[in-house]
Amino acid sequence: MGKITGFMEFGRIEEGYKPVAERVKNYKEFVIGLDDAHSRIQAARCMDCGTPFCSSGCPVNNIIPDFNDLVYRGDWKNAFAVLDSTNNFPEFTGRICPAPCEAACVLNINDDAVGIKSIEHAIIDRAWAEGWVVPRVAVHKTGKKVAVVGSGPAGLAAAQQLARAGHDVTLFEKNDRIGGLLRYGIPDFKMEKKHIDRRIGQMQKEGVTFRTGVMIGQLPKDSKVINWATATITPEQLQKDFDAVMLTGGAEQSRDLPVPGRDLDGIHFAMEFLPQQNKVNAGDKVKGQISAAGKHVIVIGGGDTGSDCVGTSNRHGAASVTQFELLPQPPIEENRPMTWPYWPIKLRTSSSHQEGCEREFAISTKALVGDKGKVTGLTTVRVEWKDGKMLEVPGSEQTLRADLVLLAMGFTAPVGSILEGFGVEKDARGNARAGTEAVGGYATNVPGVFAAGDMRRGQSLVVWAIREGRQAARAVDEFLMGFSELPR
Ligand SMILES: Cc1cc2nc3c(=O)[nH]c(=O)nc-3n(C[C@H](O)[C@H](O)[C@H](O)COP(=O)(O)OP(=O)(O)OC[C@H]3O[C@@H](n4cnc5c(N)ncnc54)[C@H](O)[C@@H]3O)c2cc1C
Ligand code: SF4
Repeated sequence: MGKITGFMEFGRIEEGYKPVAERVKNYKEFVIGLDDAHSRIQAARCMDCGTPFCSSGCPVNNIIPDFNDLVYRGDWKNAFAVLDSTNNFPEFTGRICPAPCEAACVLNINDDAVGIKSIEHAIIDRAWAEGWVVPRVAVHKTGKKVAVVGSGPAGLAAAQQLARAGHDVTLFEKNDRIGGLLRYGIPDFKMEKKHIDRRIGQMQKEGVTFRTGVMIGQLPKDSKVINWATATITPEQLQKDFDAVMLTGGAEQSRDLPVPGRDLDGIHFAMEFLPQQNKVNAGDKVKGQISAAGKHVIVIGGGDTGSDCVGTSNRHGAASVTQFELLPQPPIEENRPMTWPYWPIKLRTSSSHQEGCEREFAISTKALVGDKGKVTGLTTVRVEWKDGKMLEVPGSEQTLRADLVLLAMGFTAPVGSILEGFGVEKDARGNARAGTEAVGGYATNVPGVFAAGDMRRGQSLVVWAIREGRQAARAVDEFLMGFSELPR
């Protein structure tokens, strides 16, 4: 424990943001990380609790009190070594993790949590700047070949762990760039893509082969899932060519809104809108890009994907942006004694909301209305919830103007045909059926085929995908070698 009285002396320090007027003019990151002095003060607040609930609140079980202590003492290199021992990609989580660790911090019971995420961010940015993040090439090669399908955080973490264990790893991705939703989903203003490119460089030196533009199996003909593949490999061929296959294809099937008027022009899934902007930011030309410029935009769905649509629409220059949420507005403050150490339900105002957005709660869309085939508005109704049932409020119907409607109502499941192609059984939600047990976890019903990340657990978080990729890599290593020294 760095400073015994630190938690009584110092308050929580938040990372800074560039001013709204400046940041909405571009797609660059705008969070200003903590400097050395402020990181050390923040780390001094850690109480080094006997039972560090933060560590169990963190899906990759980062050893938080240890790196806090090392930062407080100015030993950044060892702080990085501790962080690197549990998390393959802290530069991703240090930017975009919602930080369930902080909800579980003991200080959060009656004070403000330690700013764990900001310390993680500071450690990893410093480690890259100092040149401490280097390839860790396996000393012995096993001669075993592993195919990883899907290059999101789960696939990247699995591939890195398996290459470090000495296996010959090929990572297949149907899109034209590596990264999954980190690349084509999460906007650049939350995480610039140079962070992924830097990791690809490290992983190539560790022996991972990246093959982009390759679809494993087939998508249904009418699928709206993004796919920039120029080549296809059948599941059978992949199973013949490799000793083990890891499926980390995400949960890409967007939830639709089957109401009258859905087929009008100007209504798009968030995952049609957001990837296009990421592509343009990467320097590509997108023919007929969906634009929010000068439009009245309504985003249906009150979660993070919706919030990313808000931030992107404002950067396009939308005339107005409104976000709908079906559920009632949650309380501003959580009831901490009731919810700690778990993730509380409370009103969350994102940096995108702060950039300009009307938020409507307890509202449902009954129809989309249009003129000459183009959407012009939505017919809505207020709803209330009684005994877990949603009831419409009589007489509350209204029509709101909209020139662009973005559907961000979550994701239902992985693309089914890919799992079917491998003969992998699905669970009740349509995800790949595989457990997470220490022995036999992540294995599907098909021998030698494993599944992890959103494809196994459903749409989740980057940090959960990294955890699953790491754990599944150990399961594959055990399958191939009979034992594994990879951490779980
Ligand atoms: C808009 C948006 C914003 C988000 N923001 C956050 C955030 O701020 N913080 C956070 O923690 N989480 C966020 N999430 C969730 C997070 O991105 C996902 O939980 C995470 O990326 C899942 O990782 P994954 O590796 O399992 O799958 P994905 O990242 O979905 O990657 C799967 C990859 O597999 C590829 N693939 C699929 N099938 C095939 C095939 N048959 N052949 C070849 N390739 C295939 C896909 O093209 C894709 O690139 C967000 C999600 C979205 C949609
Ligand atoms: S990965 Fe997320 S939950 Fe874990 S320490 Fe970092 S911010 Fe917290």
